Amino acid sequence: MTERFPAGLPTPAPDIDPQTLPYWEGARAGRLVLPWCGSCAQPFWYPRGFCPRCGSEDLHWREASGTGQVYSYTVVRRAGGVWAAVLPFVLGLVQLKEGPIVQGNIIDTDSDELAVGQPVLAMFENAAPDEPPVLRFGPVRP
Ligand SMILES: [Zn+2]
Repeated sequence: MTERFPAGLPTPAPDIDPQTLPYWEGARAGRLVLPWCGSCAQPFWYPRGFCPRCGSEDLHWREASGTGQVYSYTVVRRAGGVWAAVLPFVLGLVQLKEGPIVQGNIIDTDSDELAVGQPVLAMFENAAPDEPPVLRFGPVRP
């Protein structure tokens, strides 16, 4: 039986601090922006004010391709709170083309389309018009 995992998941308002503002400004514009370390010249995830590899605070924010592939995933069938109303849903790990592995919900997809290695695209969902959107992933379709 094919299961459908739609968009429209609950989207808690994120906490935004000055160190992650470039990421959230990109998200508001529908662009996935990654922090790159100016010292070791690699991107990292999650957004923060220093490189987790070397500790450098010399960061550069660059728009990512928005493409990646499913690294791993699970279908969540039991949850509490607002999430109980949208079961089942998919929590995934997506390896971006740029390298970092990002946790996020995989939406707008069917169980038939879900597999490790499956290409996905970054997208953003809003909880409310005045709140910044949250990163999700959806399938690549021709
Ligand atoms: Zn670094």
